[in-house]
Amino acid sequence: LENQIHRSERLAMIGQMAAGTAHEIRNPLTSIRGFLQILNKTLAEHNMTREVEYTNIMLDEIDRINQLVGEFLLLSKSRETRMEKIYLDELIKQFLPIVENEALLYGIEVKTESFANLPPVLGDKELLKQVFLNICKNAIEAMGNKGQLSLSSQLLREEQMIRIDIMDTGPGIPPYVIDKIFEPFFTTKEEGTGLGLSICQRIIHDMGGKIRVSSKGYGTTFHVCIPYLDA
Ligand code: ADP
Ligand code: MG
Repeated sequence: LENQIHRSERLAMIGQMAAGTAHEIRNPLTSIRGFLQILNKTLAEHNMTREVEYTNIMLDEIDRINQLVGEFLLLSKSRETRMEKIYLDELIKQFLPIVENEALLYGIEVKTESFANLPPVLGDKELLKQVFLNICKNAIEAMGNKGQLSLSSQLLREEQMIRIDIMDTGPGIPPYVIDKIFEPFFTTKEEGTGLGLSICQRIIHDMGGKIRVSSKGYGTTFHVCIPYLDA
């Protein structure tokens, strides 16, 4: 429990920082990026390959800052949430192409069961999309080259929940890591922010649901449970 309190305090602090400074960081960054791109093009026209490489690195680093700030914004409550009825099959049709595109680059196969005929859930569409994108992105990153990503769903009538299972055939999560993966800033990746899963958990908790993970040496499955609305 102490751990839980610690975590929510940290999240609240990040949220406050984010709300106050995110836009102040983003706006100048956008203009820096714009001018840098012009510079990059000019350097390329003059065949200054080394300098082009430097500016490419700078552009990449700017994108990284932008992503981090974007994640801070998601963690903060600064954005007004729009609660609405969400049909999961519609939501999946919206985010699946993005995942499939990414998977294709790594030779990963994506399989989805039908999500039709499920009752709707109540939440913010953009945020829920973010949850599935984050989990799928992690799965793809874990598998690296080749593998299978499968999405399926189950109606848990007794608990009044829909369970969405996102399964990968990656290396799995070792026991000494698995307890930490929802902590903000915990990452095992060189370029990770460690914010993805803490954002997912926050969003799903706010919907009255929960996320669990199971991994036993080989492959990982994330179980996302969300309460459904009576039709
Ligand atoms: P990040 O992706 O920036 O590292 P996340 O919060 O999204 O941050 O994930 C935290 C950590 O959880 C990852 O660094 C990784 O060690 C672990 N993880 C998450 N999903 C998977 C997965 N599908 N397979 C293996 N490890 C995973
Ligand atoms: Mg991640």
